[in-house]
Amino acid sequence: MPHIEKLCIIGSGPAGFTAAIYAARALLSPILFKGSAPNLPGGQLMMTSEVENYPGFIDGLLGPELMERMEGQAQRFGAIMKDENITSVDFSKRPFKLVSESGEVYFTQTVIIATGANAKLLGIDQEKELMGRGAGVSACATCDGAFYKNMNVAVVGGGDSAMEEALFLTRFASKVAIIHRSEAFRASKIMLDRAKSNTKISFELNKTVEKLHTDSEGFLSGLSLKDTKSGQIIPYDCQGLFVAIGHQPSSDLFKTFLEFDSKSYIKTVPGSSKTNIPGVFACGDVQDSIYRQAVTAAGSGCMAAIDAERFLAEGH
Ligand code: NDP
Repeated sequence: MPHIEKLCIIGSGPAGFTAAIYAARALLSPILFKGSAPNLPGGQLMMTSEVENYPGFIDGLLGPELMERMEGQAQRFGAIMKDENITSVDFSKRPFKLVSESGEVYFTQTVIIATGANAKLLGIDQEKELMGRGAGVSACATCDGAFYKNMNVAVVGGGDSAMEEALFLTRFASKVAIIHRSEAFRASKIMLDRAKSNTKISFELNKTVEKLHTDSEGFLSGLSLKDTKSGQIIPYDCQGLFVAIGHQPSSDLFKTFLEFDSKSYIKTVPGSSKTNIPGVFACGDVQDSIYRQAVTAAGSGCMAAIDAERFLAEGH
């Protein structure tokens, strides 16, 4: 008879680590699969620099340090960390079966999915290198907007995220350009109207970002835009570029078993972390297309651990 774990957690951002802290303190001896490349152990915060909006840190702290602290806190209570991806799951019967990339098989009574989501990127040169140091590229205005006080910034995208990011950035930046590849917007009329009526915001329509330029210190200094109609290349002066072209939840692995919304986010029962399969719980950005903050992810990780603990206590 194979050993059966009480709880396995897949994913290691704030949601996964918080679930591990709570579950370890509840003596569930959780195993947490942190993931390995191409998944980023620690999640999206590993790509950011200063985190100033996580409660409890008056002077802020670096994203990777916050993740290190959460991991250490979970380990202190006995959570076991595995530097591996889970490559297949079988949720068709209990105990659930997980297979890791090294081929090791785990059986577990409950699973918490905390695999997160990734901001879609443009895929152009230097985009990733310029992220996370306030150096010029970001996928989160809430996280990085304050680094661009009195500077010119641009936002790429034509959806609600782009409008919201642009509006938020007007608090800090002197000018905000919305660069969009067409003239048709996915953004809701109200958000678009709000952006259009903000005097700090201008629109660069039918344009794509072709190239990022840096100054001698390696900070973003400008863009080359391409006019999609004429093909003309136009220089554009800015120090910050916010990519707001959507997010992709990391949920493919669970496609056969779980219910998803139209954008591949895992569906959970409102007010809980319960999925359609009893004993499988989801938390963090993989089930949240709206808030996507470290603190909301951590909060939902806590919910998932409590849900798993109660599920086991009920004798399932
Ligand atoms: P969307 O999918 O709605 O929009 C993505 C935008 O990015 C589109 O304009 C798309 O252009 C553009 N785009 C996609 N790929 C590229 C690319 N490679 N290069 C250039 N442009 C690209 O995503 P959002 O994140 O904006 O919104 C997701 C969901 O969240 C929506 O349902 C939205 O309503 C919701 N949301 C709601 C908010 C609110 O109500 N406050 C705030 C933020 C999001 P194209 O149209 O040409 O394909």
